[in-house]
Amino acid sequence: MKLVREVDEMDIATEYDVLVVGGGIAGMEAALNLADMGFKVLLVEKEPSIGGKMILLSKVFPTLDCASCIATPKMAATAHHPNITVLTYSEVEEVRKVKEGLFKVKVLKKPRYVKEDLCTGCQQCEFKCPVTVPDQFNYGMVARKAIYIPFSTATPRIALIDIDNCILCGICEQVCPADAIDFTEEPVEYEIEVGAVIISTGFRLFPAEKMPNYGFGRFKNVITSMQMDRLLSPTRPYNTILRPSDGRIPDKIAYVLCTGSRDKSVGNPLCSQVCCMYSIKQAQLLMGALPLADIYIFYIDIRAFGKGFEEFYNQAKAMGVNFIKGKIAKIIEKENGNLILRYEDIDDGGKLKEEEFDLVVLSVGLLPNPEIRKIFVHPSLELDEYGYVKVLDEELSPAKTNIDGVYVAGTATGPMDIPDSIISAGSAAAEAASYLSRYREKAVEVRE
Ligand SMILES: Cc1cc2nc3c(=O)[nH]c(=O)nc-3n(C[C@H](O)[C@H](O)[C@H](O)COP(=O)(O)OP(=O)(O)OC[C@H]3O[C@@H](n4cnc5c(N)ncnc54)[C@H](O)[C@@H]3O)c2cc1C
Repeated sequence: MKLVREVDEMDIATEYDVLVVGGGIAGMEAALNLADMGFKVLLVEKEPSIGGKMILLSKVFPTLDCASCIATPKMAATAHHPNITVLTYSEVEEVRKVKEGLFKVKVLKKPRYVKEDLCTGCQQCEFKCPVTVPDQFNYGMVARKAIYIPFSTATPRIALIDIDNCILCGICEQVCPADAIDFTEEPVEYEIEVGAVIISTGFRLFPAEKMPNYGFGRFKNVITSMQMDRLLSPTRPYNTILRPSDGRIPDKIAYVLCTGSRDKSVGNPLCSQVCCMYSIKQAQLLMGALPLADIYIFYIDIRAFGKGFEEFYNQAKAMGVNFIKGKIAKIIEKENGNLILRYEDIDDGGKLKEEEFDLVVLSVGLLPNPEIRKIFVHPSLELDEYGYVKVLDEELSPAKTNIDGVYVAGTATGPMDIPDSIISAGSAAAEAASYLSRYREKAVEVRE
């Protein structure tokens, strides 16, 4: 059952200047920019915590700054800003434009089965819960409980029950010192009015199982780059790098660049813009974590186009990372879990070669998140030919969509790295502020 909140029982305001959809780095930046200008912002995030992909990363290229050390203060600033209301574990169901400066929005808040105002994040429920399932925030490499806090830096730090896997044993209810467990919670629908909308719904990771010749999902020691970023991060699942099949520390690791990028055969002709650099970043971090390991990067071309990127690439070469120009045709698993990579060595006259590795990392590309289109019931939102939110003018107005008053920030509009996502968020916030200054007051006056 879905409860529709009546206006007089709303626990949040019913009117905001701006709705921001998606609380990754781009959404948080856009919300903070607008809130600092005095606008009231509602930020809606579908996951139980804000932070997006960035909070799950290890370090960032090319500076090797710790990703969570940069993202956590932004998350805290967003959650505590007096002009920002954050609704996590919530989805925007519908956006309808009434007139310039006025959009009617429906938001569905999913039940956590844990009272947000009572939970202290003490994790007593999590420690005692008897159910274990794969942890989606560690990309299935370890388990989490059926009642859980998503990750150690989750914002807000509030538990939730994964009701599909809960066995209703009631242990969490017995051990919760704050009496916060509530199995009777229902989804709640809010009807809200806003003056403008910013879409910052980010990207999806290329599903590596779509390339069967690489064996992801079948060969235990083939993992994705996102899994490797988790293994290298300060909030990592184990204290070192272990290969999945037997928990051994790998001695020889291969990276397969352009997995699912620049490849029409899997429906993604675009360069994902970050894979070369994040693979070089991970290779450098691995050389620090496993000084005796040999690291190989198989590439088509290395795209090191940003400030300091070429130097970062040269630094990896100087550290001893092996770069081999050649596309991987096939990966074969041996009985001991090792992997044979068959490839064409372009710099050695295109010879076909084979090399054995302990662990293979697929540098997966970025894909669009096209579901956002369906929430715009009137007028409809246009996507570009790749499925990203279409911008009116790539060169002159990179944040404007086909709907006046709706702007786009970060990777919702195309592949980009964190600094570019932040610049894009600033642009969307400035466009929204300019639009609101033109229409918002008039819309509010007419309604009143
Ligand atoms: C393995 C890997 C390593 C990387 N390393 C680096 C690096 O070192 N340096 C660097 O600069 N970049 C790196 N990147 C790129 C970086 O992750 C992105 O640039 C950045 O995360 C983009 O932020 P975003 O806010 O646009 O999107 P996201 O991080 O995807 O955030 C989008 C948010 O929107 C939410 N959302 C989606 N749909 C909805 C909806 N319908 N309603 C509500 N919420 C929704 C999502 O849950 C998410 O929280 C890396 C990427 C990968 C894959």
